[in-house]
Amino acid sequence: MTTALIVAAGRGVRAGGEMPKQYRLLAGRSVLYHSAQAFRAHPAIGAVCVVIHPDDRALYEAAIDGLALLPPVHGGSERQDSVRLGLEGLARHNPARVLIHDAARPLVSREVIDRTIEALNRAPGAIAAVPVADTLKRGAAGRITATVPRAELWRAQTPQGFDYAAIRAAHQALAGERMTDDAAVAERHGLAVELVTGDEDNFKITTADDLARAERLMRARDAPGGWDVRTATGFDVHRFGPGERVMLGGIAIAHDQALIGHSDADVALHALTDALLGTIGAGDIGQHFPPTDARWRGADSAQFLEHAAQLVAARGGVLVHADLTIICERPKIAPHRQRMVERIAGLLAPILADSDASRVSVKATTTEGLGFTGRREGIAVQAAATVRLPG
Ligand code: MG
Repeated sequence: MTTALIVAAGRGVRAGGEMPKQYRLLAGRSVLYHSAQAFRAHPAIGAVCVVIHPDDRALYEAAIDGLALLPPVHGGSERQDSVRLGLEGLARHNPARVLIHDAARPLVSREVIDRTIEALNRAPGAIAAVPVADTLKRGAAGRITATVPRAELWRAQTPQGFDYAAIRAAHQALAGERMTDDAAVAERHGLAVELVTGDEDNFKITTADDLARAERLMRARDAPGGWDVRTATGFDVHRFGPGERVMLGGIAIAHDQALIGHSDADVALHALTDALLGTIGAGDIGQHFPPTDARWRGADSAQFLEHAAQLVAARGGVLVHADLTIICERPKIAPHRQRMVERIAGLLAPILADSDASRVSVKATTTEGLGFTGRREGIAVQAAATVRLPG
């Protein structure tokens, strides 16, 4: 498993205002929120932990605004101490790999995270970095004393990824020294560190100008023109038969009948799976999971939805909204609605925008006793899903 460690224990207030820059607002959320969310939303990252200053607990709670993260770890007086304490705090989770990231780099892209993780297949360390483009001068008293060759020079960014045990050992061995990044700690400890291509937008917010630039970039990124937004629908029906419960929306509901089908007959998840597949033109559920295939007999339909979500994730897609209408007379849906929302949001977590469960909606209606649903012969569900794909 790969865990992300977000370093947010600094007290820098140069970006203006009274509070440290990682807690300043950026496009309506804290800078820290955006940084943590970038990793939370990445399918290869299993968990995210933030290192905070002990005085910032209340700021932290407000800043992460419901993001599902590991409990925060208290940092130390220097960045290097904070990272070491953060790494030690992850010991009981024993991740195979850790990506260390500055909270003040909220515009880290999925591609940069991908490249960093991928490089860890070849080396115990890998960092995002960008080649130096400007000519570099050395100066003293306002005069140039030398021109520094820029070939082979890189500007280090984060994430900086490492084999967890190796970087923890390096930090423990070098505790108390003051090195400017984790790669320097790794290098000193003899670990090979690979350079992967970072991104100019993955800059560190330090000044008020940086914050304004990040705001412009984020707004541009979220503008509809920057995305390919697609909505698709799905529809499914299953009939009632003998049984004592129905599977609906990923949960079991006690009932005097069951829904009949080749799988567990979760008509709601089937409709939603089709809607998701529709957003990327990936056919329908029957093509992916043929009812003639014995593998899917009695299958948990959650895996169908998770598969569709993986296909959307593979396209770089994010689920903006999912909406279900369950059409039946019985069972009553209202008492179970919230559990269905939570279950579906959980299944879709890898693609759910902002990890925000309010982006999942479950509604119910009857047909006033008319038609097959009115005669209680079965349940119909219609679903709509909206995804955002990279433009
Ligand atoms: Mg079906």
